[in-house]
Amino acid sequence: MDIVDSQEERDIVMSERIVVAKFGGTSVASAAQLRKISSIIRSNPERRFIVVSAPGKRFPEDIKVTDLLLNCYEKASAGESFAEELNQVKLRFREIIEGLQMVFPLNDEIRILEQSLMTDPQRDYTASRGEYLTAKIMAQYLGFTFVDPSWCVCFDENGQLNDAMTRRTMRASLLPLNRAVIAGFYGADMNGKIHTFERGGSDITGSLAACAINADLYENWTDVSGLYAANPAIVENPETVSYMSYRELRTLSYMGASVLHSDAVLSASELEIPINIRNTDKPENPGTMIMRHLPSGVTKNPVTGVSGRKGMSVVQIEKVMVSDGSGFSALMLDILKERSLPFEYCLTGIDSITLVIRSDLLDSCKEDLFSEIRNTLHPDFIGVRDSLSLIAVTGEKATEASDANVRVLQKLTEEGIEISTINQGAGKLNLLIGVPEDRYEDAIRAIYAFRQCNSPDKKSIKSC
Ligand code: ASP
Repeated sequence: MDIVDSQEERDIVMSERIVVAKFGGTSVASAAQLRKISSIIRSNPERRFIVVSAPGKRFPEDIKVTDLLLNCYEKASAGESFAEELNQVKLRFREIIEGLQMVFPLNDEIRILEQSLMTDPQRDYTASRGEYLTAKIMAQYLGFTFVDPSWCVCFDENGQLNDAMTRRTMRASLLPLNRAVIAGFYGADMNGKIHTFERGGSDITGSLAACAINADLYENWTDVSGLYAANPAIVENPETVSYMSYRELRTLSYMGASVLHSDAVLSASELEIPINIRNTDKPENPGTMIMRHLPSGVTKNPVTGVSGRKGMSVVQIEKVMVSDGSGFSALMLDILKERSLPFEYCLTGIDSITLVIRSDLLDSCKEDLFSEIRNTLHPDFIGVRDSLSLIAVTGEKATEASDANVRVLQKLTEEGIEISTINQGAGKLNLLIGVPEDRYEDAIRAIYAFRQCNSPDKKSIKSC
Protein backbone atom coordinates (compact mmCIF):
# COMPACT_ATOMS: atom_id res chain seq x y z
CA MET A 1 0.00 0.00 0.00
CA ASP A 2 1.19 3.54 -0.78
CA ILE A 3 2.31 5.61 2.14
CA VAL A 4 0.40 8.85 2.36
CA ASP A 5 2.26 11.74 3.96
CA SER A 6 0.52 15.07 3.88
CA GLN A 7 -3.04 16.00 4.75
CA GLU A 8 -3.51 17.02 1.12
CA GLU A 9 -2.50 13.57 -0.13
CA ARG A 10 -4.76 11.95 2.47
CA ASP A 11 -7.64 14.05 1.15
CA ILE A 12 -6.94 12.93 -2.41
CA VAL A 13 -6.90 9.25 -1.51
CA MET A 14 -10.10 9.65 0.45
CA SER A 15 -11.90 11.61 -2.23
CA GLU A 16 -13.06 9.36 -4.99
CA ARG A 17 -15.13 12.03 -6.65
CA ILE A 18 -13.49 14.29 -9.19
CA VAL A 19 -14.62 17.84 -9.76
CA VAL A 20 -13.40 19.92 -12.69
CA ALA A 21 -13.66 23.60 -11.76
CA LYS A 22 -13.45 26.26 -14.44
CA PHE A 23 -12.92 29.90 -13.45
CA GLY A 24 -13.92 32.64 -15.90
CA GLY A 25 -12.26 35.96 -16.71
CA THR A 26 -13.66 38.02 -13.83
CA SER A 27 -12.71 35.24 -11.37
CA VAL A 28 -9.04 35.55 -12.39
CA ALA A 29 -8.99 39.28 -13.11
CA SER A 30 -6.64 40.30 -10.26
CA ALA A 31 -4.45 38.98 -7.47
CA ALA A 32 -7.35 39.40 -5.03
CA GLN A 33 -9.57 37.25 -7.27
CA LEU A 34 -6.87 34.58 -7.60
CA ARG A 35 -6.60 34.47 -3.81
CA LYS A 36 -10.35 33.99 -3.60
CA ILE A 37 -10.37 31.15 -6.10
CA SER A 38 -7.46 29.40 -4.47
CA SER A 39 -9.37 29.31 -1.20
CA ILE A 40 -12.41 27.95 -3.08
CA ILE A 41 -10.22 25.26 -4.63
CA ARG A 42 -8.57 24.33 -1.36
CA SER A 43 -11.90 24.17 0.47
CA ASN A 44 -12.85 21.03 -1.44
CA PRO A 45 -10.21 18.35 -2.16
CA GLU A 46 -12.43 16.98 -4.92
CA ARG A 47 -11.59 20.08 -7.00
CA ARG A 48 -8.59 18.45 -8.60
CA PHE A 49 -8.63 19.78 -12.16
CA ILE A 50 -8.82 23.53 -12.59
CA VAL A 51 -9.38 25.32 -15.89
CA VAL A 52 -8.76 29.06 -16.15
CA SER A 53 -9.64 31.88 -18.55
CA ALA A 54 -7.45 34.91 -19.09
CA PRO A 55 -7.90 37.89 -16.73
CA GLY A 56 -11.11 39.72 -17.61
CA LYS A 57 -12.41 43.12 -16.58
CA ARG A 58 -11.76 44.37 -13.02
CA PHE A 59 -14.18 47.28 -13.49
CA PRO A 60 -16.60 48.19 -16.32
CA GLU A 61 -14.17 50.31 -18.39
CA ASP A 62 -11.32 47.83 -18.01
CA ILE A 63 -10.02 45.84 -21.01
CA LYS A 64 -9.85 42.05 -21.02
CA VAL A 65 -6.34 40.62 -21.38
CA THR A 66 -7.47 38.67 -24.48
CA ASP A 67 -8.48 41.97 -26.10
CA LEU A 68 -5.15 43.56 -25.14
CA LEU A 69 -3.38 40.61 -26.76
CA LEU A 70 -5.50 40.90 -29.88
CA ASN A 71 -4.58 44.59 -30.04
CA CYS A 72 -0.90 43.55 -29.98
CA TYR A 73 -1.53 41.15 -32.84
CA GLU A 74 -3.42 43.77 -34.92
CA LYS A 75 -0.58 46.26 -34.57
CA ALA A 76 2.15 43.68 -35.19
CA SER A 77 0.48 42.24 -38.28
CA ALA A 78 0.06 45.77 -39.67
CA GLY A 79 3.80 46.29 -39.16
CA GLU A 80 3.18 48.93 -36.47
CA SER A 81 4.70 49.23 -33.01
CA PHE A 82 2.88 47.13 -30.41
CA ALA A 83 5.10 48.12 -27.47
CA GLU A 84 2.37 50.05 -25.64
CA GLU A 85 -0.20 47.24 -25.98
CA LEU A 86 2.29 44.58 -24.90
CA ASN A 87 3.25 46.68 -21.92
CA GLN A 88 -0.40 46.76 -20.81
CA VAL A 89 -0.47 42.95 -20.90
CA LYS A 90 2.72 42.83 -18.88
CA LEU A 91 1.35 45.27 -16.29
CA ARG A 92 -1.80 43.15 -15.79
CA PHE A 93 0.27 40.07 -15.04
CA ARG A 94 2.82 41.96 -12.98
CA GLU A 95 0.04 43.26 -10.74
CA ILE A 96 -1.11 39.66 -10.24
CA ILE A 97 2.34 38.24 -9.54
CA GLU A 98 3.29 41.02 -7.13
CA GLY A 99 -0.09 40.84 -5.44
CA LEU A 100 0.42 37.12 -4.85
CA GLN A 101 4.02 37.77 -3.73
CA MET A 102 5.33 35.24 -6.20
CA VAL A 103 8.58 34.87 -8.08
CA PHE A 104 7.61 34.18 -11.69
CA PRO A 105 9.69 34.58 -14.89
CA LEU A 106 7.27 37.10 -16.44
CA ASN A 107 9.93 39.02 -18.38
CA ASP A 108 11.09 35.82 -20.09
CA GLU A 109 7.53 34.88 -21.03
CA ILE A 110 6.77 38.34 -22.40
CA ARG A 111 10.02 38.29 -24.37
CA ILE A 112 8.98 35.03 -26.08
CA LEU A 113 5.64 36.59 -27.04
CA GLU A 114 7.33 39.77 -28.25
CA GLN A 115 9.69 37.72 -30.39
CA SER A 116 6.84 35.85 -32.03
CA LEU A 117 4.97 39.11 -32.71
CA MET A 118 8.08 40.59 -34.31
CA THR A 119 8.98 37.63 -36.51
CA ASP A 120 5.73 35.85 -37.38
CA PRO A 121 2.62 37.31 -35.71
CA GLN A 122 -0.09 34.68 -35.31
CA ARG A 123 -3.54 35.61 -34.12
CA ASP A 124 -4.50 32.48 -32.20
CA TYR A 125 -1.11 31.98 -30.59
CA THR A 126 -1.12 35.61 -29.40
CA ALA A 127 -4.72 35.43 -28.12
CA SER A 128 -3.97 32.22 -26.21
CA ARG A 129 -1.18 33.71 -24.09
CA GLY A 130 -3.60 35.14 -21.53
CA GLU A 131 -4.87 31.69 -20.56
CA TYR A 132 -1.37 30.20 -20.82
CA LEU A 133 0.17 32.69 -18.38
CA THR A 134 -2.78 32.63 -15.98
CA ALA A 135 -2.70 28.83 -15.77
CA LYS A 136 1.07 28.79 -15.24
CA ILE A 137 0.86 31.38 -12.47
CA MET A 138 -2.09 29.66 -10.82
CA ALA A 139 -0.45 26.22 -10.99
CA GLN A 140 2.66 27.58 -9.31
CA TYR A 141 0.62 29.42 -6.68
CA LEU A 142 -1.45 26.35 -5.81
CA GLY A 143 1.40 23.84 -6.16
CA PHE A 144 -0.53 21.96 -8.87
CA THR A 145 0.84 20.64 -12.17
CA PHE A 146 0.53 23.03 -15.13
CA VAL A 147 -1.09 21.47 -18.20
CA ASP A 148 -0.59 23.23 -21.53
CA PRO A 149 -3.59 22.30 -23.71
CA SER A 150 -1.36 22.37 -26.80
CA TRP A 151 -0.37 18.85 -25.65
CA CYS A 152 -3.89 17.51 -25.29
CA VAL A 153 -6.60 19.66 -26.93
CA CYS A 154 -6.32 18.53 -30.54
CA PHE A 155 -7.34 20.63 -33.51
CA ASP A 156 -7.01 19.85 -37.21
CA GLU A 157 -5.15 22.20 -39.53
CA ASN A 158 -8.36 24.07 -40.32
CA GLY A 159 -8.91 24.91 -36.69
CA GLN A 160 -11.65 22.32 -36.09
CA LEU A 161 -11.55 20.44 -32.81
CA ASN A 162 -10.90 16.70 -33.06
CA ASP A 163 -13.21 15.64 -30.27
CA ALA A 164 -12.34 11.95 -30.09
CA MET A 165 -8.59 12.50 -30.16
CA THR A 166 -8.89 15.27 -27.57
CA ARG A 167 -10.81 12.99 -25.20
CA ARG A 168 -8.20 10.25 -25.50
CA THR A 169 -5.21 12.55 -25.19
CA MET A 170 -6.69 14.59 -22.36
CA ARG A 171 -7.61 11.49 -20.44
CA ALA A 172 -4.09 10.11 -20.81
CA SER A 173 -2.57 13.46 -19.77
CA LEU A 174 -4.84 14.25 -16.82
CA LEU A 175 -5.61 10.97 -15.11
CA PRO A 176 -2.08 10.27 -13.89
CA LEU A 177 -1.99 13.71 -12.28
CA ASN A 178 -3.33 14.31 -8.82
CA ARG A 179 -4.07 17.95 -9.31
CA ALA A 180 -3.58 20.21 -12.29
CA VAL A 181 -4.33 23.63 -13.70
CA ILE A 182 -5.20 23.60 -17.41
CA ALA A 183 -5.19 26.71 -19.58
CA GLY A 184 -8.56 27.23 -21.24
CA PHE A 185 -9.50 28.48 -24.71
CA TYR A 186 -6.86 26.86 -26.95
CA GLY A 187 -5.18 23.74 -28.24
CA ALA A 188 -2.91 22.85 -31.13
CA ASP A 189 -2.85 20.89 -34.38
CA MET A 190 -0.47 18.05 -35.30
CA ASN A 191 2.18 20.58 -36.34
CA GLY A 192 2.05 22.29 -32.97
CA LYS A 193 0.27 25.36 -34.35
CA ILE A 194 -2.00 26.97 -31.75
CA HIS A 195 -5.73 27.30 -32.44
CA THR A 196 -8.29 28.95 -30.18
CA PHE A 197 -11.98 28.28 -29.72
CA GLU A 198 -14.35 31.16 -30.31
CA ARG A 199 -14.54 33.86 -27.63
CA GLY A 200 -15.73 32.52 -24.30
CA GLY A 201 -14.25 29.14 -25.25
CA SER A 202 -12.59 28.31 -21.93
CA ASP A 203 -15.98 26.87 -20.98
CA ILE A 204 -15.43 24.33 -23.74
CA THR A 205 -12.00 23.37 -22.39
CA GLY A 206 -13.57 22.83 -18.97
CA SER A 207 -16.25 20.62 -20.39
CA LEU A 208 -13.74 18.66 -22.49
CA ALA A 209 -11.64 18.02 -19.39
CA ALA A 210 -14.71 16.94 -17.40
CA CYS A 211 -15.72 14.54 -20.18
CA ALA A 212 -12.21 13.18 -20.73
CA ILE A 213 -11.84 12.09 -17.12
CA ASN A 214 -15.53 11.37 -16.64
CA ALA A 215 -15.74 13.84 -13.75
CA ASP A 216 -18.55 13.66 -11.23
CA LEU A 217 -19.20 17.37 -11.55
CA TYR A 218 -18.21 20.28 -13.79
CA GLU A 219 -18.23 23.55 -11.83
CA ASN A 220 -18.29 26.75 -13.81
CA TRP A 221 -17.33 29.68 -11.56
CA THR A 222 -18.31 33.10 -12.81
CA ASP A 223 -19.58 36.48 -11.57
CA VAL A 224 -23.27 35.59 -11.15
CA SER A 225 -24.94 33.10 -8.83
CA GLY A 226 -26.35 30.97 -11.60
CA LEU A 227 -28.71 31.31 -14.48
CA TYR A 228 -31.42 33.92 -14.15
CA ALA A 229 -35.01 32.96 -14.92
CA ALA A 230 -35.20 36.11 -17.09
CA ASN A 231 -32.84 38.76 -18.41
CA PRO A 232 -31.94 41.14 -15.51
CA ALA A 233 -31.73 44.01 -18.00
CA ILE A 234 -35.50 43.60 -18.52
CA VAL A 235 -36.81 42.16 -15.25
CA GLU A 236 -35.81 43.66 -11.92
CA ASN A 237 -33.93 41.23 -9.69
CA PRO A 238 -34.96 38.01 -11.41
CA GLU A 239 -34.67 34.80 -9.48
CA THR A 240 -31.80 32.45 -10.20
CA VAL A 241 -32.91 28.97 -11.16
CA SER A 242 -31.74 26.22 -8.78
CA TYR A 243 -32.11 23.30 -11.18
CA MET A 244 -32.51 23.02 -14.91
CA SER A 245 -32.03 20.39 -17.58
CA TYR A 246 -29.35 20.49 -20.27
CA ARG A 247 -32.07 20.98 -22.87
CA GLU A 248 -33.60 23.91 -21.01
CA LEU A 249 -30.20 25.53 -20.70
CA ARG A 250 -29.46 25.04 -24.40
CA THR A 251 -32.79 26.59 -25.37
CA LEU A 252 -32.42 29.56 -23.05
CA SER A 253 -28.78 30.14 -24.04
CA TYR A 254 -29.55 29.89 -27.73
CA MET A 255 -32.29 32.45 -27.27
CA GLY A 256 -30.00 34.93 -25.60
CA ALA A 257 -29.35 33.97 -21.96
CA SER A 258 -25.57 33.84 -21.77
CA VAL A 259 -23.60 32.29 -18.94
CA LEU A 260 -22.10 29.19 -20.45
CA HIS A 261 -20.88 28.49 -23.98
CA SER A 262 -23.46 26.24 -25.68
CA ASP A 263 -20.82 23.77 -27.00
CA ALA A 264 -19.74 23.21 -23.41
CA VAL A 265 -23.26 22.10 -22.51
CA LEU A 266 -23.43 19.66 -25.43
CA SER A 267 -20.45 17.53 -24.47
CA ALA A 268 -21.28 17.49 -20.73
CA SER A 269 -24.87 16.49 -21.44
CA GLU A 270 -23.73 13.59 -23.63
CA LEU A 271 -22.04 11.98 -20.63
CA GLU A 272 -24.61 13.32 -18.16
CA ILE A 273 -22.00 15.19 -16.15
CA PRO A 274 -23.85 17.72 -13.98
CA ILE A 275 -22.82 21.35 -14.45
CA ASN A 276 -22.91 23.72 -11.51
CA ILE A 277 -22.80 27.47 -12.22
CA ARG A 278 -21.31 29.22 -9.18
CA ASN A 279 -20.39 32.74 -8.12
CA THR A 280 -16.76 33.35 -7.12
CA ASP A 281 -17.85 36.33 -5.00
CA LYS A 282 -20.54 34.30 -3.21
CA PRO A 283 -19.11 30.80 -2.84
CA GLU A 284 -21.72 29.99 -0.19
CA ASN A 285 -24.49 30.27 -2.82
CA PRO A 286 -25.24 26.84 -4.38
CA GLY A 287 -25.83 28.42 -7.80
CA THR A 288 -27.61 26.65 -10.65
CA MET A 289 -27.32 22.90 -11.09
CA ILE A 290 -27.79 21.63 -14.64
CA MET A 291 -28.49 17.93 -14.99
CA ARG A 292 -30.66 15.49 -16.90
CA HIS A 293 -33.08 14.61 -14.07
CA LEU A 294 -34.17 16.59 -11.04
CA PRO A 295 -33.02 15.12 -7.72
CA SER A 296 -35.96 13.47 -5.97
CA GLY A 297 -37.96 15.69 -3.65
CA VAL A 298 -37.20 18.91 -5.52
CA THR A 299 -40.29 20.90 -6.51
CA LYS A 300 -39.83 22.94 -9.60
CA ASN A 301 -41.63 25.89 -11.11
CA PRO A 302 -43.59 24.89 -14.25
CA VAL A 303 -41.77 27.71 -16.05
CA THR A 304 -38.01 27.34 -15.66
CA GLY A 305 -37.08 30.44 -17.56
CA VAL A 306 -37.85 32.84 -20.35
CA SER A 307 -35.49 34.42 -22.86
CA GLY A 308 -35.66 35.74 -26.37
CA ARG A 309 -34.27 37.64 -29.29
CA LYS A 310 -35.34 40.59 -31.37
CA GLY A 311 -34.68 40.98 -35.10
CA MET A 312 -36.80 38.16 -36.49
CA SER A 313 -38.84 37.91 -39.70
CA VAL A 314 -41.74 35.62 -40.47
CA VAL A 315 -42.00 34.31 -44.01
CA GLN A 316 -45.41 33.01 -45.03
CA ILE A 317 -45.69 30.80 -48.13
CA GLU A 318 -49.15 29.71 -49.21
CA LYS A 319 -50.19 27.02 -51.65
CA VAL A 320 -53.34 24.94 -51.66
CA MET A 321 -52.67 21.57 -50.03
CA VAL A 322 -48.92 21.92 -49.32
CA SER A 323 -49.29 18.94 -47.00
CA ASP A 324 -50.56 16.54 -49.69
CA GLY A 325 -47.35 14.49 -49.82
CA SER A 326 -45.95 16.17 -52.97
CA GLY A 327 -42.79 17.17 -51.09
CA PHE A 328 -43.46 20.94 -51.16
CA SER A 329 -42.11 21.46 -47.63
CA ALA A 330 -39.04 19.29 -48.27
CA LEU A 331 -38.23 21.24 -51.45
CA MET A 332 -38.67 24.47 -49.54
CA LEU A 333 -36.20 23.35 -46.87
CA ASP A 334 -33.76 22.18 -49.58
CA ILE A 335 -33.71 25.70 -50.97
CA LEU A 336 -32.76 27.05 -47.54
CA LYS A 337 -30.14 24.33 -47.07
CA GLU A 338 -28.47 25.06 -50.40
CA ARG A 339 -28.16 28.68 -49.37
CA SER A 340 -26.94 27.68 -45.87
CA LEU A 341 -29.72 29.87 -44.52
CA PRO A 342 -30.62 28.75 -41.00
CA PHE A 343 -34.16 29.18 -39.70
CA GLU A 344 -35.45 29.34 -36.14
CA TYR A 345 -38.44 27.18 -36.85
CA CYS A 346 -40.75 26.01 -39.60
CA LEU A 347 -44.45 25.27 -39.22
CA THR A 348 -46.41 23.54 -41.93
CA GLY A 349 -50.19 23.83 -42.18
CA ILE A 350 -52.70 22.48 -44.69
CA ASP A 351 -52.20 25.33 -47.14
CA SER A 352 -49.14 27.15 -45.83
CA ILE A 353 -45.60 27.07 -44.50
CA THR A 354 -44.40 29.56 -41.92
CA LEU A 355 -40.69 30.14 -41.46
CA VAL A 356 -39.09 32.28 -38.76
CA ILE A 357 -35.70 33.55 -39.89
CA ARG A 358 -33.27 36.09 -38.42
CA SER A 359 -33.94 39.35 -40.29
CA ASP A 360 -30.26 40.17 -40.85
CA LEU A 361 -29.75 36.81 -42.59
CA LEU A 362 -32.95 37.06 -44.61
CA ASP A 363 -32.30 40.64 -45.72
CA SER A 364 -29.00 39.68 -47.31
CA CYS A 365 -30.70 37.28 -49.76
CA LYS A 366 -34.43 38.05 -49.71
CA GLU A 367 -34.94 38.99 -53.40
CA ASP A 368 -32.98 35.99 -54.72
CA LEU A 369 -34.58 33.60 -52.26
CA PHE A 370 -38.12 34.67 -53.06
CA SER A 371 -37.60 34.49 -56.81
CA GLU A 372 -36.13 30.98 -56.45
CA ILE A 373 -39.15 29.93 -54.37
CA ARG A 374 -41.52 31.45 -56.96
CA ASN A 375 -39.75 29.76 -59.90
CA THR A 376 -39.34 26.35 -58.28
CA LEU A 377 -42.42 25.95 -56.11
CA HIS A 378 -44.98 28.27 -57.76
CA PRO A 379 -46.68 29.31 -54.50
CA ASP A 380 -50.02 31.14 -54.48
CA PHE A 381 -48.63 33.75 -52.13
CA ILE A 382 -45.35 34.65 -50.47
CA GLY A 383 -45.00 37.41 -47.91
CA VAL A 384 -42.79 38.54 -45.07
CA ARG A 385 -43.37 40.34 -41.80
CA ASP A 386 -40.43 42.00 -40.06
CA SER A 387 -39.77 43.54 -36.64
CA LEU A 388 -40.70 40.50 -34.63
CA SER A 389 -39.09 39.05 -31.55
CA LEU A 390 -39.06 35.42 -30.60
CA ILE A 391 -39.50 34.35 -26.99
CA ALA A 392 -38.61 30.92 -25.61
CA VAL A 393 -40.44 29.66 -22.52
CA THR A 394 -39.12 26.41 -21.09
CA GLY A 395 -40.23 24.17 -18.27
CA GLU A 396 -39.71 20.46 -17.96
CA LYS A 397 -42.08 19.79 -15.11
CA ALA A 398 -44.19 17.62 -17.37
CA THR A 399 -47.45 17.25 -15.45
CA GLU A 400 -48.14 20.82 -14.43
CA ALA A 401 -46.71 22.07 -17.72
CA SER A 402 -49.64 20.66 -19.64
CA ASP A 403 -51.73 23.77 -19.07
CA ALA A 404 -48.89 26.20 -18.32
CA ASN A 405 -48.49 26.82 -22.06
CA VAL A 406 -52.14 27.88 -22.37
CA ARG A 407 -51.88 30.08 -19.31
CA VAL A 408 -48.71 31.75 -20.59
CA LEU A 409 -50.53 32.65 -23.80
CA GLN A 410 -53.54 33.82 -21.81
CA LYS A 411 -51.31 36.08 -19.75
CA LEU A 412 -49.92 37.70 -22.90
CA THR A 413 -53.42 38.22 -24.27
CA GLU A 414 -54.54 39.79 -20.98
CA GLU A 415 -51.64 42.21 -21.29
CA GLY A 416 -52.82 43.14 -24.79
CA ILE A 417 -49.71 41.69 -26.45
CA GLU A 418 -50.32 40.43 -29.96
CA ILE A 419 -49.13 36.86 -30.51
CA SER A 420 -47.91 36.61 -34.09
CA THR A 421 -46.68 33.00 -34.13
CA ILE A 422 -46.65 30.06 -31.74
CA ASN A 423 -44.58 26.92 -31.91
CA GLN A 424 -45.24 24.39 -29.20
CA GLY A 425 -43.03 21.33 -28.85
CA ALA A 426 -44.81 18.16 -27.82
CA GLY A 427 -44.74 17.06 -24.18
CA LYS A 428 -42.95 19.35 -21.80
CA LEU A 429 -43.33 23.09 -21.80
CA ASN A 430 -41.28 24.33 -24.71
CA LEU A 431 -42.92 27.32 -26.33
CA LEU A 432 -41.56 29.67 -28.95
CA ILE A 433 -43.74 32.74 -29.24
CA GLY A 434 -43.41 35.50 -31.81
CA VAL A 435 -44.46 38.96 -30.59
CA PRO A 436 -43.95 42.42 -32.13
CA GLU A 437 -40.53 43.80 -31.27
CA ASP A 438 -41.97 46.87 -29.53
CA ARG A 439 -43.76 44.61 -27.02
CA TYR A 440 -40.79 42.29 -26.45
CA GLU A 441 -39.82 43.61 -23.01
CA ASP A 442 -43.49 43.72 -21.89
CA ALA A 443 -43.91 40.10 -22.95
CA ILE A 444 -40.81 38.94 -21.06
CA ARG A 445 -42.00 40.78 -17.93
CA ALA A 446 -45.50 39.32 -18.24
CA ILE A 447 -44.21 35.75 -18.59
CA TYR A 448 -41.80 36.24 -15.71
CA ALA A 449 -44.66 37.55 -13.54
CA PHE A 450 -46.68 34.48 -14.49
CA ARG A 451 -43.72 32.30 -13.50
CA GLN A 452 -43.43 33.94 -10.11
CA CYS A 453 -47.12 33.44 -9.41
CA ASN A 454 -46.67 29.75 -10.11
CA SER A 455 -43.62 29.44 -7.93
CA PRO A 456 -43.80 26.58 -5.39
CA ASP A 457 -43.52 29.27 -2.68
CA LYS A 458 -45.73 31.87 -4.32
CA LYS A 459 -47.16 32.94 -0.97
CA SER A 460 -43.95 34.88 -0.52
CA ILE A 461 -44.66 36.88 -3.68
CA LYS A 462 -46.80 39.90 -2.86
CA SER A 463 -48.13 40.60 -6.37
CA CYS A 464 -49.80 37.18 -6.86
N1 ASP B 1 -10.22 34.73 -22.82
C1 ASP B 1 -11.13 34.33 -23.86
C2 ASP B 1 -12.15 35.43 -24.08
O1 ASP B 1 -12.02 36.52 -23.52
C3 ASP B 1 -11.78 33.01 -23.61
C4 ASP B 1 -12.59 32.89 -22.34
O2 ASP B 1 -12.52 33.76 -21.47
O3 ASP B 1 -13.31 31.89 -22.20
O4 ASP B 1 -13.06 35.25 -24.84
